[in-house]
Amino acid sequence: MLAGERHAGWADLRGDDERHLVLQGQQRPEPSVAPYFVEEIRKSLEQEFGADALYQNGLQVQTTLDAELQEAVAREGAASARDALAARGGEIGAARMIALAEAANRNPPVLKLFDATGHRRDVVEFHPAYHELMAYLARHGAAAGPWVAPAPGAHAARAALYCLYAQLEDGTLCPTTMTYASVPALRNDQALAAQWLPRILSNEYDPRFIPPEQKRGVTIGMGMTEKQGGSDVRANTTRAEPVGGRAYRVVGHKWFFSAPMCDAFLILAQAQGGL
Ligand SMILES: Cc1cc2nc3c(=O)[nH]c(=O)nc-3n(C[C@H](O)[C@H](O)[C@H](O)COP(=O)(O)OP(=O)(O)OC[C@H]3O[C@@H](n4cnc5c(N)ncnc54)[C@H](O)[C@@H]3O)c2cc1C
Repeated sequence: MLAGERHAGWADLRGDDERHLVLQGQQRPEPSVAPYFVEEIRKSLEQEFGADALYQNGLQVQTTLDAELQEAVAREGAASARDALAARGGEIGAARMIALAEAANRNPPVLKLFDATGHRRDVVEFHPAYHELMAYLARHGAAAGPWVAPAPGAHAARAALYCLYAQLEDGTLCPTTMTYASVPALRNDQALAAQWLPRILSNEYDPRFIPPEQKRGVTIGMGMTEKQGGSDVRANTTRAEPVGGRAYRVVGHKWFFSAPMCDAFLILAQAQGGL
């Protein structure tokens, strides 16, 4: 992982979460934190720079060891996810994932309004690296894991996965978060839940631009934020007017509307009974 980070130019990252490994003096240090990890680093440094550099001259090494996150995972009842999280950490820090994140961000999404014959499509095309990262998140339960397999600590384990992944790429976390957060709201409506949850709870990401009922997995976006509202969604002025059956006509102005390629959106609006 360190080699990958160094290759990508990340080895000199500084941050509050990093542990400082200071090797100075004649004797080997006896670290109180993560001794095996520290020993592994010590060995690789000695191999690369020689013992003199380590014990005579002194080196200060920054690592991405996150002891606080490990402690939080155990404290919040997610200790059983430890091995899976360690595996994810290894994958997320690998050079290939870093390259995918870079490609996804260097190639911004492109809005294509029409097809070759002039028909309206409104498709937002993303780089294949973006789709691969989305698939990775869905596969490892970042979108729906705790709802599919509810267990003590399941939400904490997912949050820890987020902490790891957020160090790699954030754009893909946005639709993944909204998909995860849509589940409790949808469960308030049995008919909608029956229609949408099977595909939301899928661990498959399906990037195809086709009707949601034909997809193996869907993503959900949200239209909550308005200019005057922000965190205080009670100040929202968008209206939802019933037009017959279960349908509403939504009229208003939303301010933040991320991830437009999601398969459906939860829109927060003032209806007859309030928000
Ligand atoms: C990258 C990105 C993507 C987004 N995507 C979406 C999206 O797809 N759909 C969507 O609906 N929204 C989206 N949002 C908007 C996001 O939901 C809003 O930013 C959020 O609701 C906060 O609103 P605000 O930015 O206006 O901050 P404000 O509400 O103005 O808050 C500013 C500060 O005041 C604090 N604050 C606010 N109210 C209180 C209070 N009552 N008590 C104490 N402190 C308070 C906040 O903690 C914050 O520090 C996105 C935002 C970002 C940054």
